[in-house]
Amino acid sequence: MIPSKSIALIPAAGMGKRMGASINKQYLHLDGVPIVARTISVFEKSPLIDAIYLVIPAEEIPYCREHIVEAYRFCKVAAIVPGGKERQQSVMNGLRAIGEKISGEDVVLIHDGVRPLVTEKLLRESIAVAISDDGAIVALPARDTIKTVVNGIVTGTPDRDTLWHAQTPQAFRYRVIYSAHLAAETDNYLGTDDASLVERVGGRIRIVQGDYRNIKITTSEDLLLAEAFLASERKDKIQNA
Ligand code: C5P
Repeated sequence: MIPSKSIALIPAAGMGKRMGASINKQYLHLDGVPIVARTISVFEKSPLIDAIYLVIPAEEIPYCREHIVEAYRFCKVAAIVPGGKERQQSVMNGLRAIGEKISGEDVVLIHDGVRPLVTEKLLRESIAVAISDDGAIVALPARDTIKTVVNGIVTGTPDRDTLWHAQTPQAFRYRVIYSAHLAAETDNYLGTDDASLVERVGGRIRIVQGDYRNIKITTSEDLLLAEAFLASERKDKIQNA
């Protein structure tokens, strides 16, 4: 079943000063284009996506409108919504803004503003799973052994075969993710991703196999890595032309 609409919700309201830059890291350029503009452009170009909702710190909204949405002519951006203190609150602000416009069966893809290397394939697969299950998360199997540690002392070594790194997009039918966020808000529960809120109310989340290039850019090392990925894609294109 094809949903009547798929909406992108891009939380980009973190303060993002970890890289020591004077501006929010999401406006730093990656190969000549601001990180967040690269992220939005994947959704703008995808025929699968009907509209984009951006969540931005309230004081940055005029800057974002002028230097990102207007400068790059993003026609699908339906609203720029003010963010909250925590990512979860930013997402909820976005969900409330979307709610006025869509049906409960439409799909929402929630995607971090600082993951610009997301692909069309991940969007397509996430939408398909959001319809057949209660939600989809893009994730990768853990390659390192993961330890649990308390006060510097190892307390356990969970079986690596059961451990996955959760990325975004995370996709859900609107009524599923809105009711899970509302329940978390009512219970004062703060999760570390959106899927965990759906899991908490008994929802079934299915994995979409992720991509090692779909990194979250939070440090200057991440930016270098993303530049290297783009350079190698360019090289592949030239070689295959
Ligand atoms: O802080 P973290 O690395 O988890 O941020 C992931 C995404 O969530 C980023 O794109 C960031 O801008 C966004 N975020 C948000 N509102 C917050 C905190 C983070 O929209 N209060």
